[in-house]
Amino acid sequence: MPGYEPFLLCDFHVHTTWSDGRLSIREVVDLYGQTGRFDVIAITDHILMKGDLLKRAGRIASLGLKQFSVTPDRFEAYLADIAKEAERARAEYGLLVVPGAEITQNNLRSRMNSHIVALDIKEYISADQPADDILKEIRRQQAFSIACHPHHRTTRRIEISTCYLWDNRKRLAPLVDVWEAANRDDLFSVTSLKHYPYVANSDFHKAKHLYSWKTLLKADKNWPAVAAALRANIDVALTLYRNGAAA
Ligand code: ZN
Ligand code: ZN
Repeated sequence: MPGYEPFLLCDFHVHTTWSDGRLSIREVVDLYGQTGRFDVIAITDHILMKGDLLKRAGRIASLGLKQFSVTPDRFEAYLADIAKEAERARAEYGLLVVPGAEITQNNLRSRMNSHIVALDIKEYISADQPADDILKEIRRQQAFSIACHPHHRTTRRIEISTCYLWDNRKRLAPLVDVWEAANRDDLFSVTSLKHYPYVANSDFHKAKHLYSWKTLLKADKNWPAVAAALRANIDVALTLYRNGAAA
C-alpha cells in the first residue's frame, strides 16, 4: 500500500459482532478498506468456554442481548460470512481477509488462562480443553497460531491475566507460530520476546481501535506467502498506525 512498499500493512486480530465487537464483518472491511492503506486483516472472533466468567458478567450487564462467542452451531455461518466479505474486500479494496478465531480461556484460576488466535481455521476448536491441546489441534488443521497478549497480567477484578503460554513457553514455544509483542496500545516484553517470532495486532473491538499497533510484513499478498513470512519472521516490523496517517 502507498507509503509502506514493499511491506504489507497487516492486522491479524479483529473482533466483530459475531462475538463482542461493535462492527459487523462488512463494516470492519469497509473501515479498513476505506483507509486505502491496509493489505491484510484477519477476522478472529471469540470462541469461549462454556462457563466463561466474563460472558456471564456481560450477559447480566447487557440483559443477554449481546453475542459473546462463536458457537459450534453458528461456526459454518461464521466462516461463510467471512468468505463472502473476503471476496468483496478483495474486489473493492485489494484487501486480503483471513478467517480465524480467538480460542479464549477465562478461568477463575487465571494462571491457566490463554487466548490463542487460530488463523486459516477450517473446523471449530473448543475452548473447553487444555491450551496444549488447542495448539495441537491448530497444527492438525494446518492452521496458524498466535499467542495473544501473552504477558497480560492484571489485578483488576473484571479482567483476567492471560500468561499461561508465556509461563510455559519453554515447553509450548514449539507449538506457537508467533507471539503478540504488541496488542492495541501495549507492548509485551519485547526484549525478552526477541528470540520468538513476533506480531503486532490491534485486538480490534471498535472503530477507534483502528489506531493501534500493526504488523508490517514483506510478502506477496496471499495467505500462504503471508503465513510463511510470519513464520520466517525476518522482514517484519511493528508500526503504530496513527489517526491522521496520510492517505
Ligand atoms: Zn484476547
Ligand atoms: Zn481478542
